[in-house]
Amino acid sequence: MARKTYRIEGMTCASCVRRVEKALATVPGVSEVAVNLATEEASLVGDTVPVEVLAEALESRGYHLVVEAQQASPELKYALARVVVAWVLTLPLMAGMIPGLHLHLPWQVQALLSALAAFGAGYPFFLHAGRQAMHAETSMDTLIALGASVSWAFGLYEGIRGSMHPPFETAAALVAFLLVGKYLEAKAKHRATDALEALLKLAPAMAFRIAADGSEEAVPSSLLVPGDRVRVKPGGAIPVDGVVVSGGADVEEALLTGEPLPVPKHTGDEVIAGAVVHGGALEIRVASVGRQTWLAKLARQVVDAQGSRAPVQDLADRISAVFVPSILILAGVTLVAWWIIKGDLSQAWRPAVTLLVIACPCALGLATPVAMAASLGTAARHGLLVRDASAMERLARVTALAFDKTGTLTEGKPALHEVRELAGSDRAQLLRLAAALERGSEHPIAKGILEAAKGLAWPEAEDFRAHPGGGVTGRVEGRNLRLGSSAFLGQGFQEIPPHATAVGLAEGDQLLGVFILADTLRPETKGTLTALRALGLELHLFSGDRPEAVQVIARELGIPEALGGCTPETKQTRIRELQARGAVVAFIGDGVNDAPALAQADAGISLPGLEAAQAAAPMNLLRGGLSPLLMALSLARRTRIVVRQNLGWAFGYNLVLIPLAAFNLLDAFGGPILAGAAMGMSSLTVVLNALRLKRV
Ligand code: ADP
Ligand code: MG
Repeated sequence: MARKTYRIEGMTCASCVRRVEKALATVPGVSEVAVNLATEEASLVGDTVPVEVLAEALESRGYHLVVEAQQASPELKYALARVVVAWVLTLPLMAGMIPGLHLHLPWQVQALLSALAAFGAGYPFFLHAGRQAMHAETSMDTLIALGASVSWAFGLYEGIRGSMHPPFETAAALVAFLLVGKYLEAKAKHRATDALEALLKLAPAMAFRIAADGSEEAVPSSLLVPGDRVRVKPGGAIPVDGVVVSGGADVEEALLTGEPLPVPKHTGDEVIAGAVVHGGALEIRVASVGRQTWLAKLARQVVDAQGSRAPVQDLADRISAVFVPSILILAGVTLVAWWIIKGDLSQAWRPAVTLLVIACPCALGLATPVAMAASLGTAARHGLLVRDASAMERLARVTALAFDKTGTLTEGKPALHEVRELAGSDRAQLLRLAAALERGSEHPIAKGILEAAKGLAWPEAEDFRAHPGGGVTGRVEGRNLRLGSSAFLGQGFQEIPPHATAVGLAEGDQLLGVFILADTLRPETKGTLTALRALGLELHLFSGDRPEAVQVIARELGIPEALGGCTPETKQTRIRELQARGAVVAFIGDGVNDAPALAQADAGISLPGLEAAQAAAPMNLLRGGLSPLLMALSLARRTRIVVRQNLGWAFGYNLVLIPLAAFNLLDAFGGPILAGAAMGMSSLTVVLNALRLKRV
């Protein structure tokens, strides 16, 4: 069953996330619910459940599920309108506080203005709080709604008693400040995810479709179907994923994969939506459109990952679940205590309301998700797709890096240098047989052999099988053949040059020939490893290649711990051993043979190419090359710092101000109004701090 994503409106804090998750999970037929506060989305498995049922389950709890046909609501605009209305109503009330300004409104008018600001402009707080109260649940909206209601009620009490200055400005200003905070927060949350929206906009909305008679017609890209043919002109962006059927041009994918240089594309080459065509025109047969394109999937994956929960977030959630009820009790105690001490209720309500508002755990709920959203967006821009936020957290703590060799440290394009003919075979015949076997393999060695066999005609292989980390087997022209490493064949090879990789072709026990290939190091490998070592990281090399060749490369690169002849399982076991010694391990690999190790590592990072490797790793490099590793490490570390700062800030702020409010020490500075302003500031600080991660 497929995952579906819905937009949810009305979530304000971490406890909302848990509530929405719970509400959706209890709908029959729904499973694996994940809710993302930063993007305001819920994703779940359960395509058979009608959206209306999901919407209904949320509606009664005060959340709104946006049905796809509906336009995304202009939430930002509404938020701004509420701010303006609240302040227009609040200012005349505050004017009474300015000495010398004799604006004195009758208390009934003040009561009305205050009610319109607090309950009118601020109605979302009350709506949520009310609905949650009906389910015997609380959230930060409960604290705000209670704080504003109590303040307004005391205004009324003072007004009826004939007091000169009934404090109606408190409820109004409190809500007005909080609305400013909400607006700024909504804007900032928007910015954390807009990089991806910008990414999606790279694919043009219009395309030139080629009709059967060869004529060209401009149509919206959304109307294209697989099999259609489109033309992209020089300077234009490609609207779909597809295959070039005629023409030739340089295609720039820099914004998609980070690959800075344009790549020449000709008939038969694949192209992706969003890439820009230079110096020529291309005619493309459409393979996938819209949400099925590589670009859309990439954006989707980043957004899903932004919603995946980092463990540190659970802590924040558990805390806020006990926090709100505790604060309600504490505020009640504060009210009663001051009432007894002062013997006057009108002196007791202010510290209680200040405490209610200042304790809102809002910043706590935002601290982690906003930082993760910003960080994962940045990582994607630099060529690292993080599909699991918790892997990013572990990457920050990594102490050891283990590498695969072929295709990871090396280019993965081994060239065939020599063919040793044994048992009376000849070179062309050996190449034909080897090529027949390698046809079905995705291994770099297979590519090298096929390249060398170009121009030869080779037969089909039957019963083909790939043995990851060993070689390939199959029947060619009736002969049972095996092609692979010396260990895989159980045969020793003679006099292999130290650098080279060698694979043998055998029929039964008979070694027919040996192919000697050499791969080159990636240009950035040396520099990257040196920089990683300088960061104090322990480096390891686990390869399936000949131990001799692995040692030569390891010595050249200064990797002390290198192991050759690894099977996929040995790579995994080695990593488990490192972990048992207390190391936090990142493994970087590219092949099917690396999948177990990628999954075992604390932070598995795959190079592009194979789906199997990418699926096993929580992090995927989007282009060939190791240079994004350094960025990834420093980004992960910075993200961890920002999350901690955010949690510390959100907590520290509450811890310091709650006792001050309880002992009525904030009153001189505005009491409840200060609390409202400070709370907005706290959320904003957390969000702005997180946005620093966008500039890395
Ligand atoms: P690495 O760990 O360095 O990426 P692999 O584990 O993929 O290397 O491969 C280990 C060894 O197994 C190779 O050096 C080669 O000898 C052999 N091998 C694996 N796949 C193939 C194949 N398709 N054809 C020939 N030999 C192969
Ligand atoms: Mg490899």
